Amino acid sequence: MNFDENCFYCSKNQDLNSIMIKICDLEVSTVYLFKEQTYKGRCNVVFKEHKSEITDLTEEEAAAFIKDVRKVAKAIQKIFNPDKINYGAFADTMQHLHFHIVPKYNGGPSWGKTFDMMPQPKTLLNEEGYSEVINRIKFNL
Ligand SMILES: [Zn+2]
Repeated sequence: MNFDENCFYCSKNQDLNSIMIKICDLEVSTVYLFKEQTYKGRCNVVFKEHKSEITDLTEEEAAAFIKDVRKVAKAIQKIFNPDKINYGAFADTMQHLHFHIVPKYNGGPSWGKTFDMMPQPKTLLNEEGYSEVINRIKFNL
């Protein structure tokens, strides 16, 4: 099992918890809800091990990972009915494979462009708001 103690996706430390909330574990990944909710329903699907590239995964791992990503995207589509879901896998510095799942709405923020990783001002929810979104996603996974 590849692990890097300096990676917040591996250590699951306070830096991670300050920007996202765990929703659940799937077959080969952990799903998080971003606290920043400019793109309502924005999630992050994080591979279970510290591997950087999709090409570092075995065929089986890659298939299982895409299956997890698809499962989350289907739940987001069903709940929020976005006009398009954007998938972002960047990780230049944090080299731990993860896919941003970003629902976009025609006429909404960043429509027709790349989504903003850290929009300002932030759109934050209260505890009740996060719980509601997380429960709806869990229910649809
Ligand atoms: Zn890692």
